[in-house]
Amino acid sequence: MRALIFDRPGEIRVADLPSPGPGPGEAVIDVRAASVCASDLRVYRGEKYALPGVVPGHEFAGQVTAIGAGVDDLALGDCVAVYPIIACGGCGFCRRGLRNRCTSRRTLGYDANGGLAERVLLPAALVAQGHAVKLPDMPSDGPDAAWGRAALTEPTACVLNSLESCRFRAGASVAVLGAGPMGLLHVVLARAMGAGAIVVAEPVASRRGMAAQLGATAVCSGEPDELRAVVDDATGGDGCDIVIVSVGLEGLTESALQVAAKQSSVNLFAGFPPESSATIDVNDLHYREVSLTGTQNATPDQFRRTAALLPSLSDVDRIVSHRFPLSEADQSYTSRSDPSVLKTAVYPDG
Ligand SMILES: [Zn+2]
Ligand SMILES: [Zn+2]
Repeated sequence: MRALIFDRPGEIRVADLPSPGPGPGEAVIDVRAASVCASDLRVYRGEKYALPGVVPGHEFAGQVTAIGAGVDDLALGDCVAVYPIIACGGCGFCRRGLRNRCTSRRTLGYDANGGLAERVLLPAALVAQGHAVKLPDMPSDGPDAAWGRAALTEPTACVLNSLESCRFRAGASVAVLGAGPMGLLHVVLARAMGAGAIVVAEPVASRRGMAAQLGATAVCSGEPDELRAVVDDATGGDGCDIVIVSVGLEGLTESALQVAAKQSSVNLFAGFPPESSATIDVNDLHYREVSLTGTQNATPDQFRRTAALLPSLSDVDRIVSHRFPLSEADQSYTSRSDPSVLKTAVYPDG
């Protein structure tokens, strides 16, 4: 089978690999769509670790085409989105349902072969934990859009975790700093969940335009004084209830805190380059009761609820701007340096 291989930072290639066959407890899916995450690009840039030689891709969906002995809850032909974390199931975090915080977690696409391939072997632990989540009503030879959206279950679940960690409530005002694919997904989900004002700060005009189309009520370039003025205007001077930092740039944590309301939550959703730091007035957090948090990935529960929600989130489709066949999967990475490109996805069927 063909797959994209990560050799080392700056080096990826499409190559042939032996097709996986399932052992006991395992399953194999034919990938129908896989999207590329900013964290995949961070691995490519050498900012984050992945096993040399691994097939990347942790955002994917496909159809079960082989199952090993003892697999009872998957059947040939099932359409699934894969929660890509292999958790231990026994550590304190796993026992609380926080398998994304498992102390010995492994992740498809980093530590084991992931979705940028024709086929993926789903390890027994992942299958046993119910991490191949069945998608209802997927046409077996269905339109590409349905599979593309299914591949985005994982990043959308990460956004659900982000908003829920910020104690999202209907009517809440939300500021999103950075309108890359994940910032835009925050706009889509916040709008669908009933946000009030949504302010988006983004220097690239085309991305600001997309944010407005997806439901942002105000957009600006992100220059700190302008952002403060736009947020004040949108919130009567209170600041936003939720502020999302969706791009890891130095200085954005400080900008986010400046537009955060009393009793608000500020979430560092993006990863930052190594050694990044921020200067925070700790009394400002204390006296205004601002929560500063970070989120990464999602829980299996959030992933399953996202899979249930996605059929009604058609705007998610607009986040994928460029599609590639597997033979050109490397371009799903290299094209992302162009700011007019949003999320990229690979369709192994062509
Ligand atoms: Zn991701
Ligand atoms: Zn664990």
